[in-house]
Amino acid sequence: MKDAAQLAYYGLHSLQHRGQEACGIAASDGMTFVSRKGMGLVTENFSPKKLQDLNGMHALGHTRYATAGANIIENVQPIMVRSHQGYFAVAHNGQIVNADKLRIELEMQGSIFQGTADTEIIAHLIQRASGNLIEKIKSTAAQLDGAFSIVVMTKNTMYAVRDRYGIRPLSVGMVDGGYIVASETCALETVSAQFWRDVEPGEIIKFGKQGIETYLFAESRTHNLCAMEYIYFARPDSDLEGVNVHASRKRAGQLMAMKDNVEADIVVGVPDSSLSAAMGYAEQRKIPYEMGLLKNKYSGRTFIQPLQEDRERGVKMKLSAIRSIVEGKKIILVDDSIVRGTTSLRIVKMLRDAGASEIHVRIVSPPLISPCFYGVDLRSKAELISSRMNVDKLCKWLKADSLKFLSLDDTREAFTKGLCTACFDGKYITSLHGMEQRL
Ligand code: SF4
Repeated sequence: MKDAAQLAYYGLHSLQHRGQEACGIAASDGMTFVSRKGMGLVTENFSPKKLQDLNGMHALGHTRYATAGANIIENVQPIMVRSHQGYFAVAHNGQIVNADKLRIELEMQGSIFQGTADTEIIAHLIQRASGNLIEKIKSTAAQLDGAFSIVVMTKNTMYAVRDRYGIRPLSVGMVDGGYIVASETCALETVSAQFWRDVEPGEIIKFGKQGIETYLFAESRTHNLCAMEYIYFARPDSDLEGVNVHASRKRAGQLMAMKDNVEADIVVGVPDSSLSAAMGYAEQRKIPYEMGLLKNKYSGRTFIQPLQEDRERGVKMKLSAIRSIVEGKKIILVDDSIVRGTTSLRIVKMLRDAGASEIHVRIVSPPLISPCFYGVDLRSKAELISSRMNVDKLCKWLKADSLKFLSLDDTREAFTKGLCTACFDGKYITSLHGMEQRL
């Protein structure tokens, strides 16, 4: 479609919450391939002039949030590959759990890697496989284990691929006679595209001159969308597997409220991802919902910044309590999750310092007890405070008046039945290929 890179830019901008470390766009006019990448945000990297250089009818963009591989320019996507059949570009969301084994095998066969990200393994596997490109992609996808939503772009064709468990989302929309594939439907809305459908688990959709072709690369396919997509990651205006994120978070808040009877004056949500759940909780219990915490719009998300020092500084920069609202009040504080506990600890202190008389913390997800190997930065059991402390102990540590978590059953009820919940129950849906030694 016309000015594809511009559309990719707007789409990436709406997906900025999914990764803020780096970004890139590759574009093709059917003859040549151009790619621009950089560290940092989309708006920092793409000026109108840079976008003009990215000419063509096809474009592929990516924002990076590193869970595998270092934060270096070589790992920034799309990864460009020159093969004897021409250039192709690869962008990937997720994490490949058998990456180490595949990388060793590829290196033994002579592959030379530029970076350390698992996306490069995907590119090498495609390059080395035999047959036409769809056969190459099929055989590559069949060898990968773990979570992957992948888009491959050649000079005139796109391929959208989703792992057989459907862990990461991938949606397709239609705009101006063309197609757009994105991790979240909010990107489709941004470019005025109409949602068509999700890429199914284990499916490859080819968008080419002849129109659309679909292929399956796995016999057994299940729906195990990452629960944290609903709880934390996705934008409230996105629909995941046909379920609106805001509505499902609100439902989670209502389910939490139905089993709660603590007395309170106001309900306060931690901006931004907990506001929908706080509204649901307040509505259900008929307690006023108030804006007791204010978010500084100009600070990044604390959870996905890679270094601990940055995270801690980030909490202070990000939130402040509104004294006139919270002073002397018994507060229900709704938050989406507790990872390391440091953010919750600071928020409770912040509200206490602003004069709150009681703080009852309600977490609209179960305690996080196991690492994620599928593309979310929950790297080790040791950093997850709920793996070391039970609810009572954690409540004391947070200096809260009470603490409750949403049950696993209510989490499934609020979001969707087919979920990955491994970080809450330790039941991984794939083999971990030795990565579990980290547990
Ligand atoms: S382990 Fe947790 S964070 Fe990782 S994919 Fe599953 S639900 Fe999502």
